Amino acid sequence: MSGLAVLGNAPAFPEGVPLVRPPTPPLARVVERLAPSYEAGRLTDGPLVRELEARAAERLGVRHVLAVSACTSGLMLALRALDPDGPVVLPSFTFSASAHAIVWNGLRPVFAECDPESFQLDVADAEQRGGEAGAFLATHVFGAPCAVQATERLAGDRGVPLVLDAAHAFGATRDGDPVGGFGAAEVFSLSPSKVLIAGEGGLVATNRDDVAETVRIGRDYGNPGDYDTRFVGMNARMSELHAALALESLDELDDHLEIRARLARRYCDLLTEIPGLRPQLVPESDRSTWKDFTISVDEDEYGVSRDELVRALAAEGVDTRRYFDPPVHRQRAYADHAPVPLPVTERVSARVVSLPLYRSLPVPAVERIVELLALVHKHAPEVSAAV
Ligand SMILES: *Cc1c(COP(=O)(O)O)cnc(C)c1O
Repeated sequence: MSGLAVLGNAPAFPEGVPLVRPPTPPLARVVERLAPSYEAGRLTDGPLVRELEARAAERLGVRHVLAVSACTSGLMLALRALDPDGPVVLPSFTFSASAHAIVWNGLRPVFAECDPESFQLDVADAEQRGGEAGAFLATHVFGAPCAVQATERLAGDRGVPLVLDAAHAFGATRDGDPVGGFGAAEVFSLSPSKVLIAGEGGLVATNRDDVAETVRIGRDYGNPGDYDTRFVGMNARMSELHAALALESLDELDDHLEIRARLARRYCDLLTEIPGLRPQLVPESDRSTWKDFTISVDEDEYGVSRDELVRALAAEGVDTRRYFDPPVHRQRAYADHAPVPLPVTERVSARVVSLPLYRSLPVPAVERIVELLALVHKHAPEVSAAV
């Protein structure tokens, strides 16, 4: 085996391996599916959007699915519908949009810790910080379900709603139940880096008629159809073009999820040989979409830091991402919020790195990437000195 690029050898992937590649269905099929709407002049919120909503609702086993322009606008509308009476407790270890949706509604975010192994909301910590909570929001981090039953109980005991940021998790299951039917609403993203894609788009899933109705009106400016707006909504409709792509992507979803699971399993099996690198912990009884394959780097055991590893992999042509670093409470957009001690979250954020995983990634590429991870460990002192 050749040596490492940071030690003067040729890179393992001269062409580069991206972190993600959108799982685009064949263009001809998307065009064919779009054609009837397009020819009829229905460009937005038409039959393809209705079909997508119906098929998603059936698959998820929920009463309502509302297609929206993005997960972010879907979260904003779901929170608008639930109208929490108090701050919203959420993890800081999430994507910024989870918190943005809260603040855009004029609500205060209260950040809670994550679990160091699953990276999911620490429910006990959320309980401690959630004294005045008007709602809870939890993210299914990297496509693995969060501790959703415990979080539902926490919210239920207080009589406040739970919203799930399910951006990563279309197709995931928790103890056999599909993600989508938990809490008051679950909101999925269909942006290109996700597993089910529309180009841009989101889906709000809910069993509550009142939430569905407010999201339906709210995505259309607050206009129920008579132009007498009931509240200040927005334009968060989905176009027929996006729905055509989403329907084709949905047709391919199960095969796609199986490929992702196989790649993730290969990573996990091989990583057990390397000290100091631990994949996200996903319970056996759950199914993740593996939207991201994220490991935690323990510098003491592994020999080099997370950031040194990122640089060593970049030299090999391997793209990585530090998801989620900085955590939301450390981002400049939240600098005006009262400082909160979140030592676990900060430790997790400083150690995580997401590795390439996408549908067309060959298994041998996973094996080669793990070989590189082992080599970096083996030559840790030289790597540290070189990067
Ligand atoms: C991508 C993402 C979002 C935002 O989704 P959009 O569809 O781009 O608005 C929200 N939350 C999480 C956890 C995400 O990863």
